[in-house]
Amino acid sequence: MALARGLRYTKRIRFIGAESVMETYKMYIDGEFVDAENGDRNDSINPFNGEAIASIPRGGAADVNKAVAAARKAFDHGPWPRMTGEERSELIGKAAALLKERMKDYAKLESLDSGGTINKTGADAFLASRQLAFFGEQAKRFNEEAEPIDGMMREGRSFNYTIREPMGVCAQIIPWNFPYMMAIWKLGPALATGNTVVLKPASDTPVMALELARVFDEVGFPPGVVNIISGPGGVIGEALTTHPDVDKVAFTGSTEVGREIMAKAAGTLKKVTLECGGKGANIVLDDADLDIAIDGSIWASYYHQGQVCESGTRLMLDANGHDDFVEQMVEKLNAMTMGDPLDPATQLGPVVSQAQMKSVLEYIEIGKNEGALLACGGGQATGGDLDKGAFVQPTLFTGVNNQMRIAREEIFGPVLGVLKYDSVDDAIEMANDSIFGLSAGVWSSDIDKAKNVASRLRSGTIWINEWHMLSERSPFGGYKQSGVGREFGDEGLHEYTEMKTLYVDDAKTRDNKPWYDMVVARPKSDA
Ligand code: NAD
Repeated sequence: MALARGLRYTKRIRFIGAESVMETYKMYIDGEFVDAENGDRNDSINPFNGEAIASIPRGGAADVNKAVAAARKAFDHGPWPRMTGEERSELIGKAAALLKERMKDYAKLESLDSGGTINKTGADAFLASRQLAFFGEQAKRFNEEAEPIDGMMREGRSFNYTIREPMGVCAQIIPWNFPYMMAIWKLGPALATGNTVVLKPASDTPVMALELARVFDEVGFPPGVVNIISGPGGVIGEALTTHPDVDKVAFTGSTEVGREIMAKAAGTLKKVTLECGGKGANIVLDDADLDIAIDGSIWASYYHQGQVCESGTRLMLDANGHDDFVEQMVEKLNAMTMGDPLDPATQLGPVVSQAQMKSVLEYIEIGKNEGALLACGGGQATGGDLDKGAFVQPTLFTGVNNQMRIAREEIFGPVLGVLKYDSVDDAIEMANDSIFGLSAGVWSSDIDKAKNVASRLRSGTIWINEWHMLSERSPFGGYKQSGVGREFGDEGLHEYTEMKTLYVDDAKTRDNKPWYDMVVARPKSDA
């Protein structure tokens, strides 16, 4: 099997290096590895060659009910929310250490499951272990968050303070583009703050989440704190978002499903955080260093075959520099290496599935019919190894205007549209004319000028002369229909907490209680 090339056999990941032994995963509920109640299973498919790599339980509403009951019990009666931050930190830290140790194996697993190149999944695996370690550190600080409030209404008699507490049972739903990291972004802050969770990975890429269940089990998380269930998004999503015992829903995925989740969660007024889609404007100013801006724009839009929410998918070029920029970019795009995601020389792997390839190819047809001009690519990539996979040629459209569907909707494939601008004001107006507001970028040799443009862009993250760089210390999230709430930083942690206010009167006397005369004492008559 070509896929097994160079992979290390480990006991934990049995199918690797052993052609006929496909790993059979189970869901993880209440500290037990279990099949779906209905016994159904699906295979997870490698998009590089269409081979099944793992057998996955196809759960349903009955499994959601079991998992939520376990998480509820663990929250209401278990040790996890009652542990100190240090104790939680220690267990999270142990899990992070295992992730670090198994970084290489997990990168390969993620490549097999998602089609991400090994360079991408290697970086993800490194970051995932680092990020979980960071959330473990945040758990320690969470203890110290009792905040006194200054300037009391009744100075000298009473004092107020606030304290942050865990929210309860958190349902977490994640997408297929960064399956491993998205699981960590969800589990990390929820666990650091003492919540219990039920996490559901995307149907196309369930492997790493189910693998993580083994890690949390191995390091000794109490039963019911982490529950991982797999199955179709519609059925499981509906059951999770309407369940009366779920306190919060955290979702990463498309804006369309995000809207549905918000509507369903409204029935029980759950707390909701949503990390949704984007259509990032990538503005190249006329003073930008051309070499860096061209390479940077390829990185901004074709990384992971364009399947990144915060990609720069609307490239805005000054009318004067447009032709030269496009010509050089096309040359580089045509030279990109497509192939086996496990080969470190591969720059573009397959998209996540045959269905996603079909959707991307449909968008290319839409672009052509709308009158955009193909500068390169424009179809399925075939030949040799590529024939069995879901490969799309890196595609560049010029002559795009901001009203076209290819400029307004997420394509989620290696397809970029170029929009010409006459003035920086035009570029900013186009950039902001979108339902999305997740990311944007500005390339310029004048940082002050770029900062001024950034200040006028309505997006949650803006890069200047860079793209895709995120720090677990900096909040990440969307303006407008790109999302609700933030991940990372203190803001991300607080999204998993309830704020409790304590009003304490320490005067130990009834004197001067403002309510005494009003309600309790016999009212004085005027007579
Ligand atoms: P998707 O919305 O189709 O699915 C996301 C998750 O929701 C999956 O687990 C899916 O099974 C589940 N789901 C599907 N229908 C559901 C329903 N009715 N109720 C509840 N859950 C349901 O998204 P995708 O195709 O997996 O991922 C790509 C999308 O994710 C893109 O739109 C991308 O921009 C977005 N994304 C956003 C961020 C971010 O941080 N803002 C990060 C990564 C991906």
